[in-house]
Amino acid sequence: MTPAPTSGNVRPIAPGQGTPHRPALRLEFQIVRLLVVEDDPDLNRQLSTALGEAGYAVDAAFDGEEGLYLGDTEPYDAVILDIGLPKLDGLSVLENWRRSNRTMPVLILTARDRWSDKVQGFDAGADDYVAKPFHMEEVLARLRALLRRATGHASSELHCGPVRLDTRSGRVSVSGVPVKLTSHEYRLLAYLMHHSGRVVSRAELVEHLYDQDFDRDSNTIEVFVGRLRKKLECDVIQTVRGLGYMVAPPEPAR
Ligand code: CA
Repeated sequence: MTPAPTSGNVRPIAPGQGTPHRPALRLEFQIVRLLVVEDDPDLNRQLSTALGEAGYAVDAAFDGEEGLYLGDTEPYDAVILDIGLPKLDGLSVLENWRRSNRTMPVLILTARDRWSDKVQGFDAGADDYVAKPFHMEEVLARLRALLRRATGHASSELHCGPVRLDTRSGRVSVSGVPVKLTSHEYRLLAYLMHHSGRVVSRAELVEHLYDQDFDRDSNTIEVFVGRLRKKLECDVIQTVRGLGYMVAPPEPAR
C-alpha cells in the first residue's frame, strides 16, 4: 500500500490548484442540501468546505448516531457516508435509513482495498461509492450524477421555455443570453426546474436550499423569487396562490 497522503483520505492536488477558496469551484453551483457523515475531522472539513464552495448547503455529522439522526429527521437530497464510524458503523446507518424508507441517494466512502465494504455497501442500499484516498473532483462528479439520476434528468442541462440551466457549469441563459445569478437565486431556480411540473412550497424551498444556520424566514424566498423574475425577464416561475411556486414542465423535444 502507498503511504497515506495529507490527512490520509484525500489525494494531494498540484500546487496552486488546491487553495481552499479557488474560484473555479464556484462554477459548480448546485441546488441541494447534503449531509456529510465522516468521523475524521480533517476529512469532514475538507469535504464540507469543497461541497460548500460547489454551492451545496452542507451539514456535517461526526459519528454514526448523529448521522443516523440527522438523516432521519432532515430532508437531505443526498448523503456522503463513511463506512468506518464510531458509535454506529456506516452500513448500519444506511440499513436503518432504508428500512425506514429514507430514499435519498447515498454515496459511501470505503477504505481502499476493502472490496467487501463495497459489496456490503450496495447490499445495504448505497447508490455509489468512492474509495479512499479520493480526488475531491471525483466525489463532486459522482454526486452530480447521483442527483441527476435521483431527479430523473439524464443530462446536466435543464430547460424551461427560453430558460436553460446547466447544473454542471452553473450557467443560466435566457433565449441564449447568459444571465448572472447569485448563489441563492441559482439554487432556487435550479430546485424549481429540477421539480418542474409540480408546486413547490416556500417551506420546502427553505428546507432544501439552505443549511441549518440560514435565517429561515420564508419572506426571503419571496424576495429571491422577485429578483429572479426580474433578472430572467420572463414569467417562467408561476406563483400558485397559497401553495407556493411552480415551473412548467419542459415541452417535449420537437
Ligand atoms: Ca472513518
